[in-house]
Amino acid sequence: MTESATKVIQTLGKCYTKKGDMDLGSPEDTILGVLMSARTTDKQVLRVFPAFRKKFHTWTSLAKADVADIAASINTIGLYKSKAKAIKGLAQKVLKDFGGKVPRTMGELTSLPGVGRKTASCVLSYSFHVPAIAVDTHVFRIVRRLGWSKGKTPEKVEQDLKRLVPERLWGEINRTMVQFGRDICIGGTPRCWKCPVAKWCAFTPKTSAPKTA
Ligand code: SF4
Repeated sequence: MTESATKVIQTLGKCYTKKGDMDLGSPEDTILGVLMSARTTDKQVLRVFPAFRKKFHTWTSLAKADVADIAASINTIGLYKSKAKAIKGLAQKVLKDFGGKVPRTMGELTSLPGVGRKTASCVLSYSFHVPAIAVDTHVFRIVRRLGWSKGKTPEKVEQDLKRLVPERLWGEINRTMVQFGRDICIGGTPRCWKCPVAKWCAFTPKTSAPKTA
């Protein structure tokens, strides 16, 4: 199974070469962007992100800001009020406990308000180049369809992936599967007829192209 899992990730890597939408470079931008992207589209986040960062460009400015002001600057994204509260708390904790630097371990990252394993894995993988697997809704759905995990939680799917996929490819999983999951292995009915990894996939029955009239 490890061999076919490797082939799948390598094949997807050739098909999907764009970097992740939330791969924003610095750990500061990435942690804020991924936190903001929960239950909203990356596009919506990217629309507000430049002005938000221009207004609040340091941890100190976020830590001192009123939650209402942070909320007002991101009010077109989902759950903006609770995200604004988490962002202020995150800034305060980064300043107080980590000397103003985003920490580099899973344990420290997930101790921050609003930061779960998925967000932490994105920061580790994108900004620090530490092997990590961010299991979001696309990765969760695709991995189960491929037959690589029967896990019912993102944590279990992450554990199964870590057993199956060589560490050097962990960072590729989220990046490629998010694009693949928007394009072919979509939610609802997947488009198996044009899938580049169908021969390694356990999903049955494979779907066929809709008939045109
Ligand atoms: S064959 Fe179908 S279910 Fe399997 S990965 Fe491809 S699109 Fe998804």
